[in-house]
Formats: sequence, C-alpha cells, structure tokens
Amino acid sequence: MTYDVAVVGSGPAGASAVRELSGRGISVACIERLHDEGFGRYHRICGEAVSDRTFGKLGWRPSGCVRRVDTIRIAFSDEISVDIPVGGMVVDRPLMLSELMDGCDADIIRGSVRSVGTDDVGYTLELTDGRRIRCRGLIGADGAHSAVRRDVFGTGPTRRLQVFNCIAEGEEDVLSFTVGGYGDGFYGWRFPSGPGKVSIGFPRGHTDPSEVEGIVDWGARDLPFGVQERVVDGCCAIAGDAACLANPLCFGGIGAALLSGREAARAMADGRLERYQHWVSRNPMFSPHFMGAHDTFASWGPEEIADAMGPFRKGYSLARGAYAMMRRPKWAEVYMSVYIAFNLGW
Ligand SMILES: Cc1cc2nc3c(=O)[nH]c(=O)nc-3n(C[C@H](O)[C@H](O)[C@H](O)COP(=O)(O)OP(=O)(O)OC[C@H]3O[C@@H](n4cnc5c(N)ncnc54)[C@H](O)[C@@H]3O)c2cc1C
Repeated sequence: MTYDVAVVGSGPAGASAVRELSGRGISVACIERLHDEGFGRYHRICGEAVSDRTFGKLGWRPSGCVRRVDTIRIAFSDEISVDIPVGGMVVDRPLMLSELMDGCDADIIRGSVRSVGTDDVGYTLELTDGRRIRCRGLIGADGAHSAVRRDVFGTGPTRRLQVFNCIAEGEEDVLSFTVGGYGDGFYGWRFPSGPGKVSIGFPRGHTDPSEVEGIVDWGARDLPFGVQERVVDGCCAIAGDAACLANPLCFGGIGAALLSGREAARAMADGRLERYQHWVSRNPMFSPHFMGAHDTFASWGPEEIADAMGPFRKGYSLARGAYAMMRRPKWAEVYMSVYIAFNLGW
C-alpha cells in the first residue's frame, strides 16, 4: 500500500489534515488505532470548549453546538476572580470529528502505527498487526505519545501532565477555572456540558475522581506541552499534540490541532512544507512566551498570587491590566500572556 500522503491519527489535527488534503487528486491514507466506541470515549475525555475564533480561522464549524459560552472566569482565590469576555462553544467532539471527515476522499485504515522508518519512496509505517504502509509525505497527528515524532524527530514532549475529566450532574454557564493548589502551574476547571451536566477537570493526584459530587463518568488522558522548535523534517510534519502545540496557560489544544493539521496538510499538498514550519514559528498562538509565563506562574505561592492579582480585585478590564503592568513590571509577561492565552489559545 503506497500513498502520496499518510496521516497518522484522526483526532482534531488528523481530521483537519485529511479534510484539507481531500479532493486534491492526492492519494491519502488516515491510520487510526481506535474503533467506534473506544474512539468516542477517548475524544470525550476533554472539556470540548472551542473558540469562535478557531472556527472563523478554519472557515468551517460543526453543525451542532452543545452550549454557547461568552465568559471565561478565572478564580485566583476566594476573593479574586477575573471574568474575561470571550466567544466560543462546547462541542460534541466525536460528532465534530466525524463531520470533519465526512465525505473525505481518503482510505481510513484501522490500525496502530508501531514504528516509522524511511525508504526510497519516503516513509514506511509498520502497524502492530504487521501491515506496512508506504507514503511519500507523512503527517504525524498521533497525539501525546506520537510514534511519528519519536521515530522521525527523535524527541518527545518536554512536559506531560495526566489530566482527569469527569462528567457530573450540575449546571454551569461559564468556562470556570480555579487556580492554586493544583501544582505545576495547573488549575481545575468546571465547564458546561450536555443538559444538566458539567465537565470537571483536574490533574492526577489532586482528587480521586470517584469522590467528585454527582459523577456519572470519568476518564484520564495525557496533555503534552513545552516548546517544539522543529515541526518539519524532510517530507514529514507533526501537528496538534504530537507537536506540543496546546497552550501551556489555558491548556486549550483543539484549536491548535485543527489549525495546525490544516496548515501542515496545505503546505504538504503545495509541496512547500517549510511554509508550515514558518507558520508555526511565527504564529503568536504558539509563542514561547507562554511557556515562560507558565513557569513563572507555577513558581507563585498564595502570597504572590494575591499580590499579582490585587489590581483585579474589582474585576478585569484592559485599563486595570495596563495599571497592573505598570505597578508590577516583573510580572508583565504573565499578565500579557494570560490575557493573550485566554483569547487566542483555545
Ligand atoms: C482532560 C483534557 C481536557 C481538555 N480540554 C480541552 C478543551 O476544553 N479545549 C481545548 O481546546 N483543548 C482541550 N484539551 C486539549 C486537547 O484535547 C488536545 O490538545 C487535542 O485533543 C489535540 O488533538 P490532536 O488531534 O493533536 O491529538 P488527539 O486528540 O490525541 O488525537 C490523536 C489521535 O491519534 C490516534 N493515535 C495515537 N497514536 C496512534 C498510533 N500509533 N497509530 C494510529 N493512531 C494513533 C489516537 O487514537 C487519536 O484518535 C484537553 C485535554 C485533556 C487531556
């Protein structure tokens, strides 16, 4: 089996890449290790919040929306919480992925890629059941434990966090984040989900999921982050979580995956893969400043949080943000990065 392009993974990055490659007269294979129920379960372990900005840039949006959201609320302590006006929605992620792939002109191959090698054609993918797939161009959209990244780029994510996502009975109108007490610059969240349900998340080690009030289901998945400088090697590109593109402050990664998968595929189809490298390197969505701000933020104890967030006691506004940056210039990078991350990073 030899293809012009193989895409490994059909999550947000892979599905978006396949959609972009479809209809261009290119033979495309998409290799996905999970089947119906397992696929749905894996992709539901997620807050499923995506900004309008992402769908605007993508030029496509899913037909269904579980809930519209217009506010992100970040609670820094019992007294200080900041509301940021946003536009976005909670999606039904498995449905969104099937709509993205619907009608695409690609061979969907159920199988797990064990290893990636190079040959005279380009790349050879060896599946765990012994099948081999050859391709001229390769897009690694295979998530946190990317085999493509490991075998072609020889790297793995610099950081990885295991995160629990619980579906519980309850009501929520805003995307609510609680900072402090979660360790390593992380936070807990509570998002609206389906009717009468909320989605509650936190890192491993914080709470036992079975103790979450009103819990009906839960799962855990790894979230990779850190800076990956090279996302292109020869005729291979990595996108989404495989390239560690989730934002290390708000940990939104669906938008990054949808947009990077599309961009990698477009550059590959045009035979100008370096364009994708430039797109990632110059894109403010993936600025290394976010990692710097994450590390500063992770080092803060309750006193620093109270001090740094003091100017926002009476709520958030751009004027208060500017005032905070003047009064506490050493934390200007954090203020700026948090503001940009929660606007651009999901
Ligand atoms: C608990 C949790 C909540 C989150 N909430 C949000 C949120 O609300 N909003 C947001 O924007 N982001 C959120 N994220 C981040 C977001 O889920 C990820 O950044 C996003 O899923 C990345 O998409 P991807 O396509 O790159 O990778 P993935 O979604 O991981 O998809 C990878 C696909 O590749 C397949 N695959 C993997 N290995 C192989 C292999 N060897 N062979 C074949 N197939 C393979 C997998 O089965 C999977 O289908 C959350 C993450 C977690 C863990």
